[in-house]
Amino acid sequence: MEEKLAKHYTAFETILEKAKSDFDLKWTKKMVPNAAFKDFVLKKTLGTGSFGRVVLAEHDKTKTPYAIKIMEKAHIVKMKQVAHTISEIKVLDCVKFEFIVGLEFYFKDNVYIFLVMRFFNGGEMFSHLRTLKKFDEPLSKFYASQVIMAFEYLHYLGLIYRDLKPENILIDHVGYIKMTDLGFCKKIDSSRTYTLCGTPEYLAPEIILSQGYSKSVDWWALGVLIFEMCAGYPPFFARDPMRVYEKIVSGRFSCPSHFTRSLRGLLGKILQVDRSKRFGNLKDGTKDIKGHDWFKEVDWDSILNRKFKPSYVPRISDPIDTSNFDSYEEEKLRVAPKEEYPNEFKDIVVQTSLPT
Ligand code: ATP
Ligand code: MG
Repeated sequence: MEEKLAKHYTAFETILEKAKSDFDLKWTKKMVPNAAFKDFVLKKTLGTGSFGRVVLAEHDKTKTPYAIKIMEKAHIVKMKQVAHTISEIKVLDCVKFEFIVGLEFYFKDNVYIFLVMRFFNGGEMFSHLRTLKKFDEPLSKFYASQVIMAFEYLHYLGLIYRDLKPENILIDHVGYIKMTDLGFCKKIDSSRTYTLCGTPEYLAPEIILSQGYSKSVDWWALGVLIFEMCAGYPPFFARDPMRVYEKIVSGRFSCPSHFTRSLRGLLGKILQVDRSKRFGNLKDGTKDIKGHDWFKEVDWDSILNRKFKPSYVPRISDPIDTSNFDSYEEEKLRVAPKEEYPNEFKDIVVQTSLPT
């Protein structure tokens, strides 16, 4: 197994190097809108979020289903999120990894910006977790291993994800995951950032304490996710967000009695308030996590190459089956006689550093 792991480390490093050069090349290119609203037929809302809604649509000619994130320019401007949104689009367009949702098309009209992604029809991990109450440890390991490799990929490119939570993890038709929502993803390279963002239960102590932070926050969130998948509820939990923050900063959590010894051991190393002791953030990087006893039966390459057969596959009847998604009230899209905010969203240009 040791030998297999060593082989995986070497092979994965090569994959990441290649991925970084592909990403860097694309990052410097200007984005050009490559579709139009008339190319799609909107079907049904799949999810809503702080910046708009995501709607299932079908391509008029090819009949391919897509998920389109529709964001209103006026809202983005009002919330002072122009730069962030542009960064999200740019990052989505440039990333390409097995376990992350990418961008297929992008365009705008007078009122909105449209981001067209492949439609992943298994639904959010969130709904499956609520239905099954909790995942068993092998299934949680399978999901965690994909999140780990996705983080390794993003961090290698100089990006931090910052918004890990079961709502942002989609399951595909064979049971593998796709991380969506790069809205908080940020290019920091080796610098630090200070913005308070993310979901209360998943925030790392250093974010709450307004200390500058970096990729260490993603590893913390991984610890929270592993706990939540195995327990069915997050480790730091309270009605009042302030209480949640207090608990997080104290770093104290208690594990349900069914957690195995190795799982408790791993969580103790990841949910570590002291970043100089947190796994993922030490000199050996992710090797501390991937090489941990809890992951010992995981075959990383087999998961990366999608050879491993997951024990749980969402029930899906056809490619545009939306039964795994909740229902939302539909809203008519607004039309305007002329282009709104033409300057703010003039073009998605080359960016080297992004605002905090
Ligand atoms: P947030 O409030 O988390 O920032 P948001 O406005 O950034 O939300 P997203 O998280 O990107 O929006 O998307 C909202 C929801 O839409 C997701 O939680 C998911 O249910 C659904 N969704 C997003 N992308 C896809 C996709 N490619 N395929 C299927 N469903 C998707
Ligand atoms: Mg989201």
